[in-house]
Amino acid sequence: MTVSIALFTQDLRLHDNPVLHAARTAADQVVPLFVLDPAVEAAGFAAPNRLAFLADCLTDLDASLRRTGSRLIVRRGATAEQTAVVAAEAGAGTVHVAAGVSTFARRREAGLLALFGDRLHVHDASVTVVPPGRVAPAGRDHYAVFTPYHRAWQQAPHRTVLGAPRALRTPTGIGSDNLTVGGPFSPSLPRGGETAARERWRRWDVDAYADVHDDLAADETSRLSPYLHFGCLSATELAARALQRGGSGAEAFVRQLAWRDFHHQVLAARPDAAHRDYRTRDDRWHHDEREAEAWRQGRTGYPIVDAGMRQLAHEGWMHNRARLLTASFLAKSLHLDWRIGAAHFLSLLVDGDVANNQLNWQWVAGTGTDTRPNRVLNPLRQADRFDPDGAYVRRWVPELAHLPGPAVHRPWLLAPEYPEPIIAPDTLAARLRRARGLD
Ligand code: FAD
Repeated sequence: MTVSIALFTQDLRLHDNPVLHAARTAADQVVPLFVLDPAVEAAGFAAPNRLAFLADCLTDLDASLRRTGSRLIVRRGATAEQTAVVAAEAGAGTVHVAAGVSTFARRREAGLLALFGDRLHVHDASVTVVPPGRVAPAGRDHYAVFTPYHRAWQQAPHRTVLGAPRALRTPTGIGSDNLTVGGPFSPSLPRGGETAARERWRRWDVDAYADVHDDLAADETSRLSPYLHFGCLSATELAARALQRGGSGAEAFVRQLAWRDFHHQVLAARPDAAHRDYRTRDDRWHHDEREAEAWRQGRTGYPIVDAGMRQLAHEGWMHNRARLLTASFLAKSLHLDWRIGAAHFLSLLVDGDVANNQLNWQWVAGTGTDTRPNRVLNPLRQADRFDPDGAYVRRWVPELAHLPGPAVHRPWLLAPEYPEPIIAPDTLAARLRRARGLD
């Protein structure tokens, strides 16, 4: 009787899971294992919102595994050591795990390799559609610009989508720990897990995506990011299904999945980009804790910025357009260090992801992969364009709900009780001109 371990990490699903597929193909029995590693908490990545979502994911994964005749084993502790303990208890010969790009994932893999040697099998096309490093420009280890990356990504072979296993055999008598999580949590978090993810994908209308993805009030993007972050859905499966469907909405959606892969391949090649400028512009950031706190609290006096920050606090999620304009406001208008904003996002986002968060922040701050690093988003123009009727602001800033239409974007004219703008509108306009290099 041979036994293998399927070590779940950012692939908390049964459908299209190369790790689970390989583990069950390689042995008679498989131990589905998840290890809650204190190193994740120590690195500050275990925000309460994500832990609550993770707890849902694990409960759902266990229920799905039980329907196949198996179950999920959860252990707490250092990943490599705990995996070795379970391998000894179960008599497992091999360990299968997905490749990751973060520093934590690399350390985890190195720890497993040290203990398991060639009994460890790392699967590189589990988290992204195209594995980091699979496509690269001549003489370089990664693409630094999205457009040529996207062209190469479209031509790269995508792995075949795998079905979910119907029956699994797992050794009996292996103990499992409980996962208890403590708050404070955002009051309106999405439900985690593969079941909720597949339901969301089935209900969501991809065809409309190209036309509505920037409309803040419509709120009609997929909201699949937390499920993609925890791997409740496979990006490969989503891309395959969308490409099969075709049309401009599906194409635009698949392009966003390519952005996700793009940031993963940058981080894989430059792990220090999680903390250091990818392309330094020798910025001397301004330090002002009062301004940073007003931004965090959604009390900058610019309602479109405040609305985004309050959505983040309430839902642990923010619309992409709001992420762009709130980040630009911090880095380009207030000129505060992008790391302050990125850390706040990571402390709340259910989809908070080192590759996507840090590299999107760097893109906005002009220290990343944007080919136009002087690009600045004027919050008032963004408001007029992407929330023309003011409905998004009225939803998240109820004290301004009495202001009609777009008047809600300029409360200094009609609602003097609202916090005064932390930078006066004309000073802001002058700063933005300077940032664009126009003055
Ligand atoms: P959709 O518009 O439906 O897109 C589908 C999927 O494509 C998303 O779920 C996501 O996985 C991927 N995607 C979309 N846009 C991007 C992008 N710009 N970069 C990478 N992947 C993308 N995304 C995260 O998943 N985690 C983060 O921590 C994160 N932090 C961000 C921080 C900033 C400052 C900015 C500007 C963007 C950030 N994003 C992050 C990217 C993007 O905002 C979210 O992925 C998106 O808003 C999630 O909503 P959705 O699932 O409805 O996206």
